[in-house]
Amino acid sequence: MNQRKRISSNEQTSGAPVAIQIGERLKVARGNISEIYLSLQGEALWVGLPMVFVRTSGCHRRCAYCDTEYALVKEPFARLWGRMKEGMPDAIEENPVTVKTVVNWIRKASQGWVDWVAFTGGEPLLQVDFLVSLTHLLRKERYRILLETEGGLADHLEKILPYLSAVAADIKLPSTTGESLDKDQCSLFFRKLAGAPVEKAAKIVVTQNIDESEWDWAVQMLADIDDSFPLILQPVTPARFVTERPKKALLMNLCGRARKHLKNVRIVPQVHKFLNIG
Ligand code: SF4
Repeated sequence: MNQRKRISSNEQTSGAPVAIQIGERLKVARGNISEIYLSLQGEALWVGLPMVFVRTSGCHRRCAYCDTEYALVKEPFARLWGRMKEGMPDAIEENPVTVKTVVNWIRKASQGWVDWVAFTGGEPLLQVDFLVSLTHLLRKERYRILLETEGGLADHLEKILPYLSAVAADIKLPSTTGESLDKDQCSLFFRKLAGAPVEKAAKIVVTQNIDESEWDWAVQMLADIDDSFPLILQPVTPARFVTERPKKALLMNLCGRARKHLKNVRIVPQVHKFLNIG
């Protein structure tokens, strides 16, 4: 590839992440990034908001419908766009990259007017100490931060929750992901999230082969916590091992079952996919 590698003299990568102590909290100064770019938020309650996306690399899950397979393992380089993700990146940096580098690219991509930053993945919470360091700097610059997460790492969530503006958390039903779900950890995660003063939504990716008893469990779990907790049904966009979209009748059936227990249930497809933007 004809990509330009840009590593400034004061940000040379030494290999291992660097940890420093500020106040009482561990600050990790480097993290593994897949890409940074400007785009529209296409999911959940925040559809249509321009955001700078910071995609971390590395995920402990392997969902059957994952559309970011390239970010499942640590990537050797971060790809950086100071604009929307079109064509070649403006720069690449060797991973792990510094917090300062990430903030600089967020500034470029936000172009002086975008005030939201989305942490996405991969699974961002796997690098929670790095994200805490990053959010400290971003909050000083008055960015609002949305965390997108798979919804199972409750202890990690607790570390970063005070610094966030919004959280979109998945409930990963085994019939849709092809993987097991730790229901206790999932419930704990949503209990912690429910009590936090942030915008929030639960999201379930719906595939045609969804097990309706799993759906009912997820709805009841949320309703037992807070019946006003927003729940988004996200019809799967075919990716990885999933080739079929769910039928409209299935979506309406699931929506109706959920609305008997929850006040705020919506069907929201991935809007950015319709617009064919990253
Ligand atoms: S949690 Fe997200 S990034 Fe990880 S495998 Fe599932 S869809 Fe992909």
